[in-house]
Amino acid sequence: MENNPLLIVENLQKVYGDTEAVHRVSFQIEHGQSVGVVGESGCGKSTMVRVIAGLERPTGGQVLFRGRPYHLRPKRKGPSPINMVFQDPMDSFDGRAVLFDSPYEALSHTRRIGRRDAVGEIESVLETVELPASCLRRRISQLSGGQSQRAAIARVLLTEPELLIFDEATSALDVSVQAQIIHLLLQLREQHRRTYLFISHDLALVACLCDRVLVMYKGVLVEEGPVGEVMEHPLHPYTRLLLSCGRAFAMDRGGTPLPEVPQRSAGGDSPCRFYPHCPERTSLCMEVAPEFREYGGGRRAACIRCEKRMTEKADNQI
Ligand code: ADP
Ligand code: MG
Repeated sequence: MENNPLLIVENLQKVYGDTEAVHRVSFQIEHGQSVGVVGESGCGKSTMVRVIAGLERPTGGQVLFRGRPYHLRPKRKGPSPINMVFQDPMDSFDGRAVLFDSPYEALSHTRRIGRRDAVGEIESVLETVELPASCLRRRISQLSGGQSQRAAIARVLLTEPELLIFDEATSALDVSVQAQIIHLLLQLREQHRRTYLFISHDLALVACLCDRVLVMYKGVLVEEGPVGEVMEHPLHPYTRLLLSCGRAFAMDRGGTPLPEVPQRSAGGDSPCRFYPHCPERTSLCMEVAPEFREYGGGRRAACIRCEKRMTEKADNQI
């Protein structure tokens, strides 16, 4: 069982009214792997992980966890093998509650434990996330943003999920708090060898935390591969653009938007979603739909020009 992927996402689709937020996304995560998902704001990252975590129902496709279909679970109900830390810590808590209550609730779902016995355990997890025990009796609303996000991480750690999803869990925080939390996540990754799905619009962050990266654009996966290789030799023009824009790219809170390439008069009907913005588009891109193809070494990309380049390269090698 350990040799099988922990998570298999197959043809996942999520539609809200007229918006197809996630379009036929497929990928796998092995045990102990850290996988990053990058892409500009609105590309479907949160929708995809909410469906994976069982917080929303997919419109199509399925999520297999340990080889079995993973179904819808009500938020905050019982221990889940897949657990999430949200961008806004207030999505994880009731602000009026005392900090102790939330991790206690998480803990008591995993086993029978009295409030008194729980204190020691909760304090030691708070120590791991570098929150002083004095915070335990305070209301969540009295904590700073950094403190409540640490509390959200502590709460998730207490439930010991097999897959931890961090959805932009640090992006709303001050740079210094963000750095502390990233340091903490790196430590936890080393110590516990958990499996992570780490969502960010920040490629540099993903590069330091993840083994592999998925690049998402308007609901589709456009590239996947080992993080170092994708950063050094991106296959998809969108990944190249993302990298050239650097850290400040497409900040969720009003940063640099994606630079637009002027649309051609005939544009708009290409089967490639990136066509209107693609600096490398050709007339071929109007005719042939890109497939998310495998190029060896765990690398995949969805670009017709990339396909052509790789085929030509292979032909030249014969
Ligand atoms: P990201 O996390 O990459 O910023 P989201 O998953 O939040 O992207 O959003 C993807 C698309 O789905 C956006 O167009 C967004 O407006 C839409 N969307 C997300 N959640 C909902 C919802 N609950 N109802 C309707 N549309 C939604
Ligand atoms: Mg999001």
